[in-house]
Amino acid sequence: MNVSSKLFIPKLYCSVVGHQYRITKKVTNHIKEYTCSCCGKEVTNDAKGVLVPLTPKLKFIHLGLEQVIIKRRRTKRSKMKIVA
Ligand SMILES: [Zn+2]
Repeated sequence: MNVSSKLFIPKLYCSVVGHQYRITKKVTNHIKEYTCSCCGKEVTNDAKGVLVPLTPKLKFIHLGLEQVIIKRRRTKRSKMKIVA
């Protein structure tokens, strides 16, 4: 079996049966990244909840979102320590 047939068979299977998406990253409660366990295709959900291909630009946006969320959690925790 050569390399091209290894890549072709999962894509053929997915085109017949459909992708088997698993959540690989939970960015927010509404935004998640999914990867097909069969062919490795990466998708994410957009603002309307529709699955769209995960582009490098979207990955970069998700990283930025994660950093904002982490900073928010840190500031909330530090405020709670001051109050308590
Ligand atoms: Zn697939």
